Amino acid sequence: MTDTVRVALGPRSYDILVGDGLLAEAGARIAAVTGGRAPIVVTDSEVAPRHLPALTASLERAGIAAGEPIILPAGEKTKDFAHLADLMDAILGRGIERSATLVALGGGVVGDITGFAASIALRGIDFVQIPTTLLAQVDSSVGGKTGINTRQGKNLVGSFHQPKLVIADTATLNTLPQRHVLAGYAEVAKYGLIRLPAFFAWLEENGAKVVDGDSAARRHAVTVSCQAKADIVGADERESGDRALLNLGHTFGHALEAATGFSDTLLHGEAVSIGMVMAFDLSVRLGLCPATDAARARAHLHAVGLPVSPADIPGVAWDVDELIGHMAKDKKVKDGRITFVLARALGDAFTLRNVDGDQVRALLVDSLKG
Ligand code: NAD
Repeated sequence: MTDTVRVALGPRSYDILVGDGLLAEAGARIAAVTGGRAPIVVTDSEVAPRHLPALTASLERAGIAAGEPIILPAGEKTKDFAHLADLMDAILGRGIERSATLVALGGGVVGDITGFAASIALRGIDFVQIPTTLLAQVDSSVGGKTGINTRQGKNLVGSFHQPKLVIADTATLNTLPQRHVLAGYAEVAKYGLIRLPAFFAWLEENGAKVVDGDSAARRHAVTVSCQAKADIVGADERESGDRALLNLGHTFGHALEAATGFSDTLLHGEAVSIGMVMAFDLSVRLGLCPATDAARARAHLHAVGLPVSPADIPGVAWDVDELIGHMAKDKKVKDGRITFVLARALGDAFTLRNVDGDQVRALLVDSLKG
């Protein structure tokens, strides 16, 4: 069974297909988008041995297999200028025309750098996302943010460039290490916490199934998440309003990631999980949110196996001043003020700019204790 979520952006609209085993029909779906032209496939060294053969076979069946795929090294370090230069070289070296299409087969790293390459090659060519991590299926492949990291920070060079199609084959998640499944799950839970209280309640019942690989539960979770992101992006493509709600947990999370050097010590989704709990706790401290709602958010994330406090990450000597310093440098800071995504209740997030710094500090001090 295949679910279809439409991202409604006028001439830039596209479909997200969600289903178990969709790689088998990816060739025909891509052929419909490229007008029968062969795409250039970009993937990484971890994904290639696991999922490239199925995609290649599917492209062959559709009569659009051509050229060697481009295989990037796996990992966040690939999202840099050096790898972008190599990727552009490999793409342009094929003598492409404006009608060319790139296919990004992989997680958020492959999707972000390939989407960015598509946005600048010949001033913009088409691309299709085939996300293979849960995070990429529910978040990074949808919405058109592309980019790379620089010496100064993460995702500081990039563009808005919407894909032509997203194919989320939930079966690809069966080979994903469980830690990455959980990290992606934090983003799934985020949609419930932002604006879908009934979905959050569903997750409280069924989250374990999603994490453990139940196919129907995964499809439902990915589809609802994509619909939530599609709705938000459709209303605010360039983040001038509601799209900022998607940053729930990210202000604290980003600081925690920065303090751990954006390393495997703390994955992005794990940082978001802790950050969301902190955002709810801050909302409670500010008298904005019932403590019972914050407790539910924390309990669920903890129950599925996600960290909910910096103290859950072993071996890190956290420093409050350092964390505050990182928060102040976040690229979402405007006129020197940090915008926090807070909550009035579970499923009712909003943004607030004038948050009392002492309250933030007090929260950090207490959070570091666990
Ligand atoms: P990732 O792409 O590095 O994937 C994680 C690891 O899993 C990698 O080693 C990868 O090779 C491997 N992998 C991927 N699919 C696999 C599979 N099916 N089986 C086995 N291994 C597999 O990381 P990610 O968590 O997918 O994405 C993180 C990136 O996404 C970050 O760079 C972040 O900035 C970006 N991001 C972008 C957006 C956006 O809107 N563009 C949103 C959120 C995050």
